[in-house]
Amino acid sequence: MNILVLNCGSSTIKFQLIATDLEEIAHNSDRRLARGDIERIGGESIVSLRAEGREPERSTATLRDARAALDLIVHWICSAESGIKEVQSVADIHAVGHRVVHGGEKFTHSVIIDDEVLRDIEKCIDLAPLHNPTNIKGIVAAREVFGAGLPQVAVFDTAFHQTLPEHAYLYALPYQFYRRHRIRRYGFHGTSHRYVAYRYRQLRGIARDATNVITLHLGNGCSIAAIRKGDSIDTSMGMTPLEGLVMGTRSGDIDAAIIDFIGAKEGLSSHEVETVLNKQSGLLGISGLTNDMRELLAEAHENNDRRARLAIEIFCYRARKYIGSFLAAMAGADAVIFTGGIGENSSEVRAKISAGLEWAGLQLDPERNAAHSGGKEGVISADGSSLAAYVIPTDEELLIARDTVRCVRGAPQRY
Ligand code: AMP
Repeated sequence: MNILVLNCGSSTIKFQLIATDLEEIAHNSDRRLARGDIERIGGESIVSLRAEGREPERSTATLRDARAALDLIVHWICSAESGIKEVQSVADIHAVGHRVVHGGEKFTHSVIIDDEVLRDIEKCIDLAPLHNPTNIKGIVAAREVFGAGLPQVAVFDTAFHQTLPEHAYLYALPYQFYRRHRIRRYGFHGTSHRYVAYRYRQLRGIARDATNVITLHLGNGCSIAAIRKGDSIDTSMGMTPLEGLVMGTRSGDIDAAIIDFIGAKEGLSSHEVETVLNKQSGLLGISGLTNDMRELLAEAHENNDRRARLAIEIFCYRARKYIGSFLAAMAGADAVIFTGGIGENSSEVRAKISAGLEWAGLQLDPERNAAHSGGKEGVISADGSSLAAYVIPTDEELLIARDTVRCVRGAPQRY
């Protein structure tokens, strides 16, 4: 089957076209036919498209909404100019898989989208007001472009963490807030944590229930998960993606009393303070320079900038502290896995996070660590390190395509 995987944001659409089926999944022979993204939808949009084995194409177009952007993508995929032999017309696209951010407590697995599912995704808007509406727009746009007959599947960022036990997902707030409003930890980046845990057990040739790892997704957004016997049993992001690790522009954990305090001192509403915590904090807030880790590292090396160094230090310290607490939460782990733009590419950040975890048996091999960037997968710990360390580049799109196939074929899902 040719699966169009869509990740629809507020002004962006990222897509991949993946050829896969139950047979391909079994043999790991899925094929990436094309990928691309459209940014700044709603104005003069930037379009990047790339078919397998070809040079990337970049252009601009005036695209008023998600529907117009999707029209452009589908038209390009089906055109002779893209050179994708497997897809000559819209009929050669067999299903669409969507990344959906929040599935609340309702969605523990991926599902075929029907009207009822769409209504349930709408019900989760309260929990993810920035993300779910744009995901829904993408689903509606795909229905318009392909017609209601084409199967569409929703793959939720929260679903993998639905195995968290009550003691890990409940906040110590009056219990009725959970009962009335479902205020609890949901966790995010679930598809990424799930993918790297799956790849780890493939690399090691072990079973799902022998998979005991801590996964760190370090990108612009950052989260960490404790995975015991294949299940997520704790994670750092909470009811929203704001909690936990230091991120590009998000603060991660803070004392909740600070919100009112800043509001009073700076004359900001609680909504405005929340925007500061989401958009002006984290690496950007501390450094005053950038949310981009690569630029911060360059600034620290080239100009010895104090606040750039401080931002990196706080980022790594928080991650190390979480690894320690998750080791306690899961009574020890076999490996720590790094993924995401920073986790996959920065040997320096990986080394800084791991330094001081020797007591837990984690010993990086400096040469192996330095050799892993740009999509290279493998072990970075020293032989004999009792807590191993891996770099595993994430591939959420592949899992979305595979889940889509399994849902459409009625095959059991593998989480
Ligand atoms: P993502 O959201 O997963 O695309 O990750 C984006 C983050 O990865 C940004 O902070 C980038 O600066 C960071 N990143 C990408 N490449 C590198 C690199 N070679 N060294 C350090 N950070 C990097």
